[in-house]
Amino acid sequence: MQYNFIMQILDGKLISQTVKDGIKSELENYLSNGLRRPHLVAILVGEDGASRTYVDSKERNSLALGFDSTVLRLPASTSEDELIAIVEKYNNDDSVDGMLVQSPLPKHINENLITQTIIPHKDVDGFHDINMGKLAKGDEGFVSATPLGVMMLLEAYKIPTQGKHCVVVGRSNIVGRPMSLLMSSNRAYGNATVTVCHSKTENLEFYTKQADILIAALGKPGFVKADMVKPGAVVIDVGITRIEDANRKSGFYLRGDVDFEHVQHIADYITPVPGGVGLMTIAALLSNTFKAYKNHLGL
Ligand code: NDP
Repeated sequence: MQYNFIMQILDGKLISQTVKDGIKSELENYLSNGLRRPHLVAILVGEDGASRTYVDSKERNSLALGFDSTVLRLPASTSEDELIAIVEKYNNDDSVDGMLVQSPLPKHINENLITQTIIPHKDVDGFHDINMGKLAKGDEGFVSATPLGVMMLLEAYKIPTQGKHCVVVGRSNIVGRPMSLLMSSNRAYGNATVTVCHSKTENLEFYTKQADILIAALGKPGFVKADMVKPGAVVIDVGITRIEDANRKSGFYLRGDVDFEHVQHIADYITPVPGGVGLMTIAALLSNTFKAYKNHLGL
């Protein structure tokens, strides 16, 4: 069904660049006043291809903004105790503003234990219980980069959220849950009425079809079909799945959770994959790191 022709792409490339330009110019001001650069530490354990790509991108983007970037690429055999000792070292290193440990970790390492070891004011991923708790209470803390990036994107396009029905498909601690908390929070950008769906939701389409803002974060490529979407909805596709493709140099292409080809004719606004939420996630991470830096230096 062809619904309309006013569909607009929510351009993560454009908006993430605007966010990064804003950080860069503010930072240049601080640097010209003799202040040091923000410093982000990223720790990668093992050889996971996607994780390597994400960490490389975080490093490249940090350096491009004028941040100092330290990346530790550790072997998969790194023990839990060794990793904890490294995290604690950076917790106590006054030159470090923000730190993240790239997920997933090898199976012998308790990921939650590592997350809780990062000192909350350097936890720029916003995964620590204290930061999650602050988000749940509506207090100021670090918010997980992907949901924060989605909010930045909606705000940049001035898409109203207040009073709208937002349906979030997915309830993970890093995406769906914080996303639903942000959208329902009592803030200038928030105040939506939120429905959270997950793998046990019965009759999922019943809910997705009611969404003014539909956020798909389930990790199932092409799952959200046109007949699951309300005409005129805002559709945010968080999903990123690598689909093997021998015809491509990389050996894969990226696909989102939304059947973009068909849903674009139903939605008023939609994010592409790639070029949507993924780029906003990086921008939000840099924004969190800059915030940690400013908090640290009392700016
Ligand atoms: P998880 O696997 O941790 O969570 C998936 C969620 O989706 C779960 O809550 C699960 O329900 C729910 N779910 C799974 N299948 C269904 C279904 N058939 N119907 C309804 N709900 C379902 O994934 P993440 O949250 O970590 O990531 C989701 C997607 O987002 C992935 O593709 C990931 O790669 C991508 N991602 C993208 C980022 C970006 O920068 N753009 C950053 C992070 C993730 P239940 O809780 O019941 O199991």
